[in-house]
Amino acid sequence: MTQFDYDLFVIGAGSAGVRASRMIADEGKKVAIAESRYLGGTCVNVGCVPKKLFVYASELAQTPHEAEGYGIELSLKDFNWQTLRDNKTNEIQRLNGIYQRLLDNSGVETHLGHAKLIDPHTVQVNDKHYTADKILLATGSWPTHPDIPGKEFFISSNEFFFMEQFPKKALVVGSGYISVEFAGILNGLGCKTFISSRSGKLLRGFDESTRQFAENEILKKGISLIKTPPKEINKTQDGYSVTFNDGSSEEVDLVIGAAGRSPNLQNLGIESLNIQLDDSGYIKVNEQYQTSTPSIFAMGDLIDTPQLTPVALAEAMTFLKQQFKGEPKVLDYSNIPTAVFSQPNLATVGLTEEEALDQGFDILRFESDFKALKLTMTDSTERTYMKLVVDKDTDKVLGAHMVGEHAAEIIQGIAIAIKAGATKAIFDETLGIHPSSAEEFVTMRTPS
Ligand SMILES: Cc1cc2nc3c(=O)[nH]c(=O)nc-3n(C[C@H](O)[C@H](O)[C@H](O)COP(=O)(O)OP(=O)(O)OC[C@H]3O[C@@H](n4cnc5c(N)ncnc54)[C@H](O)[C@@H]3O)c2cc1C
Repeated sequence: MTQFDYDLFVIGAGSAGVRASRMIADEGKKVAIAESRYLGGTCVNVGCVPKKLFVYASELAQTPHEAEGYGIELSLKDFNWQTLRDNKTNEIQRLNGIYQRLLDNSGVETHLGHAKLIDPHTVQVNDKHYTADKILLATGSWPTHPDIPGKEFFISSNEFFFMEQFPKKALVVGSGYISVEFAGILNGLGCKTFISSRSGKLLRGFDESTRQFAENEILKKGISLIKTPPKEINKTQDGYSVTFNDGSSEEVDLVIGAAGRSPNLQNLGIESLNIQLDDSGYIKVNEQYQTSTPSIFAMGDLIDTPQLTPVALAEAMTFLKQQFKGEPKVLDYSNIPTAVFSQPNLATVGLTEEEALDQGFDILRFESDFKALKLTMTDSTERTYMKLVVDKDTDKVLGAHMVGEHAAEIIQGIAIAIKAGATKAIFDETLGIHPSSAEEFVTMRTPS
């Protein structure tokens, strides 16, 4: 090496940036990373991890109901939001420390501060300039709110994790997975919760019958769906008055905007370089994550691929192989499993029925809808749904979808079978684990 300070300079120490920097440093390369807020990025600090901890809290709050049918009397005495919030923050701070150690142990130099591109090989952090042979942009995404009067009253997912008070009545605007998960957390912990959905539906884009089933179950838990977007938010003495497009209104003490996110390009300096964006505002890259400036690369939530941590990690590993190990293989984006940590969970892998039909497959659909054994002695009306989409010609299982307890855990296993190209015959030959909900995936015999 060369005239540069580093082989690689990474901007953003989130899922993609941390993985790429430490793996590439482990190959003996000289690597630096800049981070302006928190090590670990969105997922660790204001995303997947704290969200799942809050989901566990809201599920625990349901335990007394279920215990009753088993002859166990539990009572929910109190819910202390400050304890939950602060214990979560302590746990996240522990993880921040682990991320710093991972970077240090790999020999990655960490520069804390906002980083900006100066030229194709130079980055500025805190008034200092650093040069690198390659620069990787991994600055993630940022919440956006509908442009309506009173939009300054929205809090975003970022602030949700640090609220001073737990609300009594809240509105979540948006109907994607973040919105549905936040509504589940609020509702489960005793807050009267509304979701406002422009389309009037929850979780659009997931397999339609699975989505419908999930929506029904989610609303059964007490969340109210407002089938129109907000038009205006006004501050009142006690909270906010939200008027909707259909003229209706609702008084709440918190309005959470969870309707969208956009690539985080703020003051990154891309304007002065030839870095092109696509029509949706994501950074345009080729299959090597290379931008239109050849020494600069981008990945994770900055580019138009599924906005999920495992995808960002896989992109980082592919970048390592392509650029530093001479392995040109590109990342396969098919069959990415994903979950919505709603109550109950929705999880999915492979093609939806609609996608399979669009792609010209002649399909068979296998479905099962049942009450989980655990709930049979309780007064819960929650039901579980499972669905397989199978190619009639090859017998290959194209997609698996589930709504129910532990759906994420179950679908992760099914994803391996689908990735391996398993046929329905192989599912049928697989013995079940009895009694379990998961065994339904290998006992569905009759197409619906
Ligand atoms: C509420 C919520 C829940 C989620 N739940 C899940 C889930 O359950 N499962 C899942 O797979 N995914 C989930 N995600 C998505 C997941 O968090 C993202 O896909 C993932 O974090 C993207 O990784 P990234 O590396 O691209 O960006 P990030 O993890 O966002 O990291 C970007 C980093 O760059 C830093 N940065 C930005 N600009 C600069 C700059 N100029 N200089 C220096 N540093 C900078 C930021 O501070 C940040 O730390 C969730 C997201 C949200 C918001």
